[in-house]
Amino acid sequence: MTIAGITFDFWDTLFTVRGDETKKRRNEMVSDALAGVGVDLPAEAAGAMFDDVAVTFDESWRAGVQYRFDHARASIVTRLGLDELGAARLEEAWLEAYRLSDLRARPDAAMAVHGLAEAGIRLAIVCDVSLVPSSVLEEHLRRAGLAEAFMHRAWSDEVGVYKPHAAIFRHAIDGLGITDPRRVAHVGDLRRTDVAGAREFGMTPVRYRGAFDDVDDGYPDAEHVIDDHRELFEVLAVGRAAQ
Ligand SMILES: [Mg+2]
Repeated sequence: MTIAGITFDFWDTLFTVRGDETKKRRNEMVSDALAGVGVDLPAEAAGAMFDDVAVTFDESWRAGVQYRFDHARASIVTRLGLDELGAARLEEAWLEAYRLSDLRARPDAAMAVHGLAEAGIRLAIVCDVSLVPSSVLEEHLRRAGLAEAFMHRAWSDEVGVYKPHAAIFRHAIDGLGITDPRRVAHVGDLRRTDVAGAREFGMTPVRYRGAFDDVDDGYPDAEHVIDDHRELFEVLAVGRAAQ
């Protein structure tokens, strides 16, 4: 069956984030912002709190229970006993840190995405949003010059479910105007969510291991495993390779 559309995971597929600089800066920005409203939270203590909400996110995500930025924010506001102004400052600094984070589009992804879009393949993003809200991820997409290449996005914080739930894949192909999932491939790095979810929904899974090689053998691998997104042209027999 001819492939008419491709959906892409976001983290460790289209984008990666570098090292701990981002976290360090976030901790400092939040600590400074709260100091401005008389709340003493050293950067290190801020870091420990962010680690805690990250653990809660991870557990919730694995259980398929929504845990978004606003949940994490509420948890920290309660824990610190922040008033409205404190909560607003926390949010501002936290989101600003995410905007400034060193998120890079993978060069092979950028090349392939532009080439596929030019070849008329309909592209969408299917992303399990962690604590970085999709509104901020959109800014990073724009900055990387990739926003226009994607016709549609299925962000979990908007759709309301995480992969491997069928509803998020359904949302994506509906947005592409494609009714038959067999005409769509999904590219992602994780076997449990990307590969299993896409396969269960009837799409062709492609596992990308250029950023992260998921060796979780509790879940079957994809039909196609690629190290570079430019291999998509060949394995899916679509368009022609961009140079
Ligand atoms: Mg990923």
